[in-house]
Amino acid sequence: MTIKQILKKYHKLEIELLLAHVLKKQKEFLYLNKDHRLTNRQMSQISQMVKRREKGEPIAYILGYKDFMGHRFKVNKDVLIPRPETEGLVEKVIEHITRSMEQKNPIRILDVGTGSGCIIISLAKGLRAKGIEFYASDISKKALAVAKANARNLLPPHPSSPSGGEEKGGGLRIKFIHSDILQNVRMNFDVIVANLPYVPKKYYVSSIKYLRWEPKIALVDPIKDFDVYRRFFIEVGGHLNPKGVILLEIDPSSRKSLKGYQQKFLPKAKIKFHKDFNNLWRYAEIKLR
Ligand code: GLN
Repeated sequence: MTIKQILKKYHKLEIELLLAHVLKKQKEFLYLNKDHRLTNRQMSQISQMVKRREKGEPIAYILGYKDFMGHRFKVNKDVLIPRPETEGLVEKVIEHITRSMEQKNPIRILDVGTGSGCIIISLAKGLRAKGIEFYASDISKKALAVAKANARNLLPPHPSSPSGGEEKGGGLRIKFIHSDILQNVRMNFDVIVANLPYVPKKYYVSSIKYLRWEPKIALVDPIKDFDVYRRFFIEVGGHLNPKGVILLEIDPSSRKSLKGYQQKFLPKAKIKFHKDFNNLWRYAEIKLR
């Protein structure tokens, strides 16, 4: 088949990305070379991918990657696919740290429930200044393996470093901790960022068609809506430096619950909510005084 025929036949499946991937070309190539004919090998690759896509599997899992903050992150079924809303969270952390850098150095940042590592790795790439230490935790060892692979790919070792840069320049510039929320974390931080499972059960059930491909543990609380964030608030107070800041990605319907947790477990802090590009309350900012 030609590109034109494939685009027409499978347009409902958002086939462009798959086609560009199989042809190893940019998307633009497809529209400039519509009469280009695929080889047999490429055709069989495409039809395998189409089969998965027809069952509803997200394109990111079929391709094995997702672009986030301009970087290409490896993803598989062990990690949530990075969302555009989360780019807004990363931007908020970068803004905050850029503002507060003059006041305090070094800064230590922790990303709780890192998944693919997209938040902490984007921060490490976006905040190249010296004196920032990056940490990330996850309850899932399989997710940590993906995050470490992404760190190695995206934070290459410094070529001039004698040890190949493993310690300083490379992926190990981020320290990964296997932990349920903050249970195994033994240090304090200036900034704690998290995108913990927050999808309300009702919404999860009604969106199961789209969400069932992704790890349930990363999306929904098995016990009670927003309970992971309740546990986070209980634990986080003991891990923040004076003037520490917490930045969270949240469900828009969870503001009241989160404010309650803050008042109960971090009574001296202040909480503020921010909207995402869809005008939904998507982020919480908690500052210690
Ligand atoms: N934003 C994701 C969704 O609605 C949920 C991410 C999360 O639970 N942390 O699909």
